[in-house]
Amino acid sequence: MSPHTPERGRSRPRTVTLSLAAAAVALATGLTGPAATATPPVPGEPGPSMNESFATAAEEYGVPRDVLAAVAYGETHFDGHAGKPSQAGGYGVMHLVGNPARHTLQQAARLTGEPVSELRRDTDANIHGGAAVLRAHADSLGMTRAQRRDVDAWYPAVARYSGARAGTARLYADTVYDLLAHGVRGTAPDGERITVPARDVHPDKQTAGAAPEKAPRSPDYPDAAWVPADPANYAEGRAEQLDKIVIHVTQGSYAGSISWFQNPEAKVSAHYVVRSSDGDITQMVRDADTAYHAKSANASSLGIEHEGYIDDPSWFTDAMYRSSAALTRHLADKHGIPLDRQHIIGHSEAPGNDHTDPGEHWDWDTYMELVREG
Ligand SMILES: [Zn+2]
Repeated sequence: MSPHTPERGRSRPRTVTLSLAAAAVALATGLTGPAATATPPVPGEPGPSMNESFATAAEEYGVPRDVLAAVAYGETHFDGHAGKPSQAGGYGVMHLVGNPARHTLQQAARLTGEPVSELRRDTDANIHGGAAVLRAHADSLGMTRAQRRDVDAWYPAVARYSGARAGTARLYADTVYDLLAHGVRGTAPDGERITVPARDVHPDKQTAGAAPEKAPRSPDYPDAAWVPADPANYAEGRAEQLDKIVIHVTQGSYAGSISWFQNPEAKVSAHYVVRSSDGDITQMVRDADTAYHAKSANASSLGIEHEGYIDDPSWFTDAMYRSSAALTRHLADKHGIPLDRQHIIGHSEAPGNDHTDPGEHWDWDTYMELVREG
């Protein structure tokens, strides 16, 4: 069939009028062309609810609603962060990406006819965009209409949606299918509840590339998997004595962050990445090497990234704190780093840094207690 033909026309109401005030602003600022005719949001006319958006996007693009919602939860816990980008340049609840190596934002714009600016900040457009990209993967994989109704058959399309290399793509798809197996109970920023019922899943992994190989264990911390960052994203060796650990929050998903550090365009990395749901850890840079995570503090520190977004406490789980604290204790003992807040610091506390992570929702008291308890 022709690729990505929506099964139904778009139902999202579109306003076409340009208010006088917006027109005056456009004239005053010399805006012409498409920017000047862009439709401003109409006050008092809220868009569809997120549940409605999942339902209409699922129907239009023939993607199971629960697959769409599980992808969104895995990426963002249903928070579009008001159009602000993730670390990897991803936008909205579906994390449509526009970075030097990956362009699903632009792909979604082509597929849906929505401008990139709208896909970034409008949740309904973003969800339709994510559904269109998933459908494009289904079509390129040759999925039939019957297969598109089968949640298990979407595994390889979900893996491709990650844009990651084979092993990390499977990690991403496994996360989505874990969510489908256990169910999701999430809350959108405006308080709307979004659920995905738990179901039996038997994902079709055969077509997602070679048989899943388990990532090797980390040479520095045996409880972690070892997935090396791209050599462009760190330096071999250290120019200074290692004396501190820097705590970060990824501003992105676990698999998405691992994928980003594998990407030579990123020019950033961390030694370790910790997963929100269960505290799973992946090491990406050896302790003896210099990861790019905290500017002038890079040479003297180890960086630990925690999956999540600083403004959403739902990512900061007990499992993540405990697993990260055990890692920090191990690293501190091994490298002679004191167990205090002068040597175990937040990215925001590293000299010469403008980042705000781990942010106000990171519970330092609990974390340091767990670190000291060992
Ligand atoms: Zn950071």
